[in-house]
Amino acid sequence: MSLVIIGSIALDDIETPFGKVEKIVGGATPFASLAASYFYEKVKVIGIIGGDFPKSELEIWKEHKIDLEGLQIAEDRKNFYWSGKYHNDMNNRDTLETGLNVLEDFDPIYPDSYQDCEYLLLANLSPVTQLLAINRLKNRPKLIVMDTMNFWMDIAMDDLLATIKMVDVLTINDAEARQLSGEYSLVKAANRILAMGPKYLIIKKGEHGALLFHQDQIFSAPALPLAEVFDPTGAGDTFAGGFIGYMAHVGTVNFNNMKNAIIYGSALASFCVEKFGTEKIKNLSESEVAARVQEFVKLSDFKIEN
Ligand code: AMP
Repeated sequence: MSLVIIGSIALDDIETPFGKVEKIVGGATPFASLAASYFYEKVKVIGIIGGDFPKSELEIWKEHKIDLEGLQIAEDRKNFYWSGKYHNDMNNRDTLETGLNVLEDFDPIYPDSYQDCEYLLLANLSPVTQLLAINRLKNRPKLIVMDTMNFWMDIAMDDLLATIKMVDVLTINDAEARQLSGEYSLVKAANRILAMGPKYLIIKKGEHGALLFHQDQIFSAPALPLAEVFDPTGAGDTFAGGFIGYMAHVGTVNFNNMKNAIIYGSALASFCVEKFGTEKIKNLSESEVAARVQEFVKLSDFKIEN
């Protein structure tokens, strides 16, 4: 059994109040698969890179035991490219450029060895490709988690709605929840989005944590208050990877396990923002992760005295 992750693999130019970097490895899949690898051994990737993508990066993924059989390499084409700029309020960013390049006609092909997929993460990617990735599995996975962003709402809303209908968990940020539902209140937005098909909805609120909605239940997870957020890029993907990696680790899909998975995902995301790109989440120790999870537990631990 395995966890398959499909999503963008990018070269990013990022500007934050703390500095500027060019052509660093980003995209949904690197963040998500590294995060998931801390909790689950059989992480398999489907994606595409261009000839300008640094091959040395693949060695790091292999060290994390991430299976790259489903990675396509288009030597004669340019990699997916994204550039973004953050202002002092790091909850908001401007996308400066999105160059789809190899992603434009990407055909997600499952190697035979990936048909044992029990957990599927549809990380950020065109909703048409995400839907293909669901339909090409011979057996429906136990859990399908989908992440998306405003870019796809702007250019492919109908395709997005068709894909959302098919998944178990949708993860989006607060602004995207409002855009998708047309509701400002996140509770009303959640109800509308749950009516679109997913059984669970996670609304990420950046430095304000995340909300999990399921039927009439809500769980609120904090974000770790950090003195310095260096680069928020990839925090959402890291969260999604940590979330599904933990779910694959525990092996039973229910609301209670998802509450814990949200804390694990948030813990990994809190590391991600401490450095540019995937730098921080490449090299974490088990004890560091465990200690960070305990910080989350302490953060909202209280008893009501009667
Ligand atoms: P996050 O900060 O979690 O929203 O993820 C940021 C990452 O998503 C960056 O590394 C980008 O390369 C990648 N990204 C940006 N736009 C897109 C898009 N339209 N499709 C897929 N990935 C994207």
